[in-house]
Amino acid sequence: MEKIRAYLEEKKNEMLGLLEKLVNIDSGTYCIEGINECGKILAEALQSLGFQTKTIEEIGWGNHVSAERPGTGDKRLFLSSHLDTVCPQGTAAKRPFRIEGDYAFGPGVGDMKGGIVQMIYALKALKALGRETPPISVFLTGDEEVGSVLGRPHIEKIARRSTWALVTEPTTDPEGVTVKRWGVGAFYLTILGQSAHVLAQSKVGVNACRELAMKILALEGLSDPVRGVKVSVNLVKGGTSRQVSASEAKADIDLRVQSVSEMDDVEKRFRKVAETPILPGIQIKLEGKLTRPPMEPNPNTEAFLEIGKAVGQEMGLNVHPIEKLGGSDGCFTAALGVATLDGMGPMCYDSCSDTERIDVNSLVPRTQLMAGIIQRLTKMSKN
Ligand SMILES: [Zn+2]
Repeated sequence: MEKIRAYLEEKKNEMLGLLEKLVNIDSGTYCIEGINECGKILAEALQSLGFQTKTIEEIGWGNHVSAERPGTGDKRLFLSSHLDTVCPQGTAAKRPFRIEGDYAFGPGVGDMKGGIVQMIYALKALKALGRETPPISVFLTGDEEVGSVLGRPHIEKIARRSTWALVTEPTTDPEGVTVKRWGVGAFYLTILGQSAHVLAQSKVGVNACRELAMKILALEGLSDPVRGVKVSVNLVKGGTSRQVSASEAKADIDLRVQSVSEMDDVEKRFRKVAETPILPGIQIKLEGKLTRPPMEPNPNTEAFLEIGKAVGQEMGLNVHPIEKLGGSDGCFTAALGVATLDGMGPMCYDSCSDTERIDVNSLVPRTQLMAGIIQRLTKMSKN
């Protein structure tokens, strides 16, 4: 472990160099060119580590990158990352990578370019030191930030062949690893009313915006911290003119559910409230679904966590499980029974905002933890 740490300390500036390169390429989910460029850089890095890489093209979206390397034993490790960020085109020019004090800033620096850099350097360290690893699959999703609709089948296919998964999302606790996440639903509500001038006598309007206003209160009213439910309506539009009753109103709705056991019931109640009109003459269309199931630690994850703790102990870290409200691709691997440790990336603050930053000092220990875990799996892959 000491040698891994020394290697990483020596490479710290190189790691920051790769991070700078990736952060300064806009790779928001809709920045197709940037996603593909980041994918190309990382595919080359993986090839130099002995991986066979494959670019999976998606029409109208950024590519995913899939990579495989044989190893010792027959149990497979899945390293899961994503290439896209939530930042639109032009963000990198507006606030490029910069280091200020202990922090590195820039779009996607934590979510999750820092974690990708860690993954590459954890593998580099093990290779440089001649350490064996289990067979490894890497998948870099191109559309994670919009729910991995396209990436999901590929992720699940790899997960079914894998025993363990490490997900390189950032962490909010320097000694934490994520084993629990809330499920996420994305729903799109369209309310149809009837347009009419507000003073019209011959025709009565039905105001879709009024229905939406009441719906927002009813839907957000489903939030229940005790049951682990959170409904948020933050994106709405409706109407065409001040003096005409709105014939249409729309809302994008975010639904979070803490546990798998509540998931179906919560979705059923949510749909009922969303789809039942309050005003006479209203018609409602609801699209969308739960895009990620809640991540719950399965028995395999519990055992995997013990490995993480043991590696942490060697490093003088108190590695412990944490829970996050946000979903990740780890929700898919955990749901399939794969032992999943998520949030393996660097310590990140204000993720997905203008002040997103990572603690530069967390890069080496978090990478060392990842490398240490991979190294330990080699022995277990043979059993
Ligand atoms: Zn992420």
